[in-house]
Amino acid sequence: MGSSDSRLAAQVGHWIAGGGVAGSADDRWGDVFNPATGEIARRVALATPAQVDLAVKAAAAAFPAWSGMPALRRARVLFKFKELAERHAADFAALITAEHGKVFSDAEGELTRGLEVVEFACGIPQLLKGEYSEQVGTGIDMYSVRQPLGVCVGITPFNFPAMVPMWMFPVALACGNTFVLKPSERDPSAALFIARLLKEAGLPDGVFNVVQGDKVAVDALLTHPQVDAVSFVGSTPIARYIHDTAAAHGKRVQALGGAKNHMVVMPDADLDQAVDALIGAAYGSAGERCMAVSVAVAVGGVADALVARLKARVPAIRVADGMDPAAEMGPLVTRTHFDKVKGYVDTGVAEGAQLVVDGRGLVVPGREGGFFLGGCLFDHVTPAMRIYQEEIFGPVLCIVRAEGFEHALRLINEHEFGNGTAIFTRDGDAAREFAHRVRIGMVGINVPIPVPMAFHSFGGWKASLYGDHHMHGPEGVRFYTRYKAVTQRWPAGIRAGAEFVMPTMK
Ligand code: NAD
Repeated sequence: MGSSDSRLAAQVGHWIAGGGVAGSADDRWGDVFNPATGEIARRVALATPAQVDLAVKAAAAAFPAWSGMPALRRARVLFKFKELAERHAADFAALITAEHGKVFSDAEGELTRGLEVVEFACGIPQLLKGEYSEQVGTGIDMYSVRQPLGVCVGITPFNFPAMVPMWMFPVALACGNTFVLKPSERDPSAALFIARLLKEAGLPDGVFNVVQGDKVAVDALLTHPQVDAVSFVGSTPIARYIHDTAAAHGKRVQALGGAKNHMVVMPDADLDQAVDALIGAAYGSAGERCMAVSVAVAVGGVADALVARLKARVPAIRVADGMDPAAEMGPLVTRTHFDKVKGYVDTGVAEGAQLVVDGRGLVVPGREGGFFLGGCLFDHVTPAMRIYQEEIFGPVLCIVRAEGFEHALRLINEHEFGNGTAIFTRDGDAAREFAHRVRIGMVGINVPIPVPMAFHSFGGWKASLYGDHHMHGPEGVRFYTRYKAVTQRWPAGIRAGAEFVMPTMK
């Protein structure tokens, strides 16, 4: 068998009502690559609307018992899941590297950040506590509670196959909802790994389900009458579509989109620190992070020194198979994505930006078929260029030169995306002004990738988020619950007879 023979590759199926569901010969299938070799490693079944219906029905059937279980017991299942995930962390991270391509230590980091949301969700009895007002009227008390929604759906991108689902399902389940996950068809196996561990942790069948698939599965979920809420993370055009379609079908929806994160380097910044930050934030995970820095805004006279240092550092990044312990950057996820990112580098050259470091010719010995692109660095990028306006999602850093602080701030505020940003400076005044005025959801001060911890919430502004709620943390609890206010009076209270006017408390 040639390992690129897709008919003989291992098959990835669904997880419905507590068990694996294999695809059949009649199904549509997608290819899953090993990005480091370029070979097809697995095939993934693409769900039909009928299979999606089975998963949603399983989740709906499991909802009454799961939502009726005390929150403390739900939390204990998640606690056990966390223990199991940590015990199997090495296998889990290797599976992520095998399908995504990111370096193994980065996959371990992704897992850790995901499990921090599980830790947060284990505190759900405290998080669900409502408010109580005694004697709001004579003999009348009032309290408020938050209750689960029902069947919640998660539709997730390829770039964090474990962490992004973990932004969603731990909070959703802890709140008492049941869940259907539709992971990216490019790295579908992590979702099944999660499903098996949840079952082993004691999660009742049907509470967590996985349907593999593409637009057909997504559309079936968005329009299904028994789906109550949809959480999405992915690119902006799809986020907009998910938001509009799900909302039109009466669902609560949060849809996180793409990004173009700017890091401002002020003339007074510690340049060594700023360069280290840019190397990690622009090229880590081959730039396939929604919080990657893809634009460095060099303010005032700092640009030449900044470019000179980056020019020396970028070609030295060790690009290799993600399982190579020496690797600092792995391959891109698929050949299609590689071609797209490389195409943007070609575009940048044609648009007149100065390509200071060209990673297009990179060959990794022994991995000639892999989707490797070396780090690329553009200088003299302008807002009129497509490489500035559009999300590239690869190891390409653009330097834009700004005259001063106001110019840098204006660039960021006028950009379509609003996910993350950072400023590097020693000036507290400038940093405070920046944090206050910038129109971005997540802001770093001398921190290049300001991903909020699990007990805060994650989300962008502008074209980086459609809907009202950010993910995990307190916003996640609000998204996955409905508010209910109860006003109570017991028969021994004062009897006023029938009242025909708007009730007021006496
Ligand atoms: P994508 O939008 O192509 O896919 C995301 C999900 O949507 C996948 O599950 C996919 O199967 C599904 N999908 C794709 N096309 C669809 C269609 N036409 N109709 C319905 N569903 C469809 O995104 P991706 O390439 O997997 O991930 C990279 C993108 O995700 C980048 O834009 C990145 O910035 C973004 N991202 C954003 C965040 C954030 O927090 N804002 C986090 C991670 C990734």
